[in-house]
Amino acid sequence: MAQSGGSIELRGLGKSFGDEDAVVDMNLQIEAGEFFSLIGPSGCGKTTTLRMIAGFEEPSTGEILLDGVDVAAVPAHKRPVNTVFQSYALFPHLSVEDNVGYGLRWQGGVDKADRRRRVGEALDLVQLAPYAKRRPHQLSGGQQQRVALARALVLRPTVLLLDEPLGALDAKLRKTLRQELTTLHREVGVTFVFVTHDQEEALEMSDRLAVMEQGRVVQCGAPREVYSAPRTAYVADFLGVANLLDVECLSSAGNGLRRVRLGDAELLATSVAGHMEGDGHVVIRPERVRLAISGAAAANAVVGTIEELVYVGATTQLVVRLAHDQLLQALVVNNGEHDDFVPGTPVTVALPPEALRLLAAS
Ligand code: ATP
Repeated sequence: MAQSGGSIELRGLGKSFGDEDAVVDMNLQIEAGEFFSLIGPSGCGKTTTLRMIAGFEEPSTGEILLDGVDVAAVPAHKRPVNTVFQSYALFPHLSVEDNVGYGLRWQGGVDKADRRRRVGEALDLVQLAPYAKRRPHQLSGGQQQRVALARALVLRPTVLLLDEPLGALDAKLRKTLRQELTTLHREVGVTFVFVTHDQEEALEMSDRLAVMEQGRVVQCGAPREVYSAPRTAYVADFLGVANLLDVECLSSAGNGLRRVRLGDAELLATSVAGHMEGDGHVVIRPERVRLAISGAAAANAVVGTIEELVYVGATTQLVVRLAHDQLLQALVVNNGEHDDFVPGTPVTVALPPEALRLLAAS
């Protein structure tokens, strides 16, 4: 059931409710067939953006182009877009297959045989064919969500908007469904725009993602890029555990590197922020910190003492107090090389320049 995906372009898109700006000057290009996520904390404008793309909400400013065509004058039901919500809102008195086929009844030019075939294909796609005759209350939450997906896909949209579709499910089921959604996306080829406040979900599933803060996109890119090179402390913090350290910015070292002073040590950090002087912040992820027993030779390193240690099976989380008193989180893999780490152990803390990122002044 491969379908084609549509492209989406948002140009200066904004939405105000009274004097509250829910979405502000949003400019995004989502490619045909992409799995694109909008992430950010509650109230940052994710749902409002989706609702404008779907046609449920009228923009206050800007334009929405679907496949290059401005859709301002196109009502919601005529847009090649379908939405899957967190609450699946299935008809309780209809069977699974009738729920899935419901929208097709209202679409002209689809005869009964065609409808049955398309419903069958959609149910196969979400692995629910054996449940076709059941009623929604005879299904698990995950199965109901899959019915909602089939119901949206059967109409062959070129864009599928997913608003926290896994939000009502328990943690274990969410993980299984993440995998299923990624596979589904690959199989159907439709553009997915996925809204979530769960950063792990977005990092795992998306081709690209946009982090939103108070109605604005603050960074957009591939998950690996945004995670490893956050531009601001907000993005770094939103996308997982990040060490934020106070530094003094020194001179440029060329090649996108800058000298910074951390306590007494002079280190190199990657800088995309252009010229900065004086006080600044660097960020480094715990898994990029390299720890060695004190005295080991290491480049771009400071000294510290292990303060806390939490064993979590495959890895150990550590808190290290640096010589100048700032705290740093580190994560080491339990491969036998770090068994001598205990609280109080003096360590050399290497902070590789490519992983130590100077943030833009905010
Ligand atoms: P959540 O993750 O909680 O769903 P969100 O990021 O999707 O949040 P939106 O639902 O887009 O955020 O809301 C953005 C802002 O706009 C919020 O401050 C919200 O209160 C406001 N807002 C949304 N819809 C309306 C409305 N119909 N009338 C007034 N204000 C609204």
